[in-house]
Amino acid sequence: MKKVEHIGIAVKNLEASNLVYSTLLGVAPYKEEEVLSEGVKTSFFKTGPNKIELLESTTEDGPIAKFLDKKGEGIHHIAFAVDDIVAELSRLKKEGFVILNEVPKKGADNKLVAFVHPKSTNGVLVELCQEVAPEEKR
Ligand code: ZN
Repeated sequence: MKKVEHIGIAVKNLEASNLVYSTLLGVAPYKEEEVLSEGVKTSFFKTGPNKIELLESTTEDGPIAKFLDKKGEGIHHIAFAVDDIVAELSRLKKEGFVILNEVPKKGADNKLVAFVHPKSTNGVLVELCQEVAPEEKR
């Protein structure tokens, strides 16, 4: 894996949290995006080389809604950038990690993403993400 790509934070109200994080970080979000397949609305902040993703649920029973019910607002996942998500998933699977989606899916911010279950990573939901070139966007 190349680096931490971003840290995802589950929030109840994206608009209110955008204000909080704009004030905290001193920058406005550079992007807001709804990911229908995940039932989330997201916004992204950039501070130097680091990115923060805020996630609000758009459904009653989506992954973020469930997380908020169980744990409340807070850090939801850590995302790592990879060059070849398919190869990395197969490596992690062989090592015994529990993969949540073995077929990478289109995530926010023009990425192919897959998740590793927190039960195999000491309680941290891990996201792998591979940048998708705009012409092969799916
Ligand atoms: Zn993410």
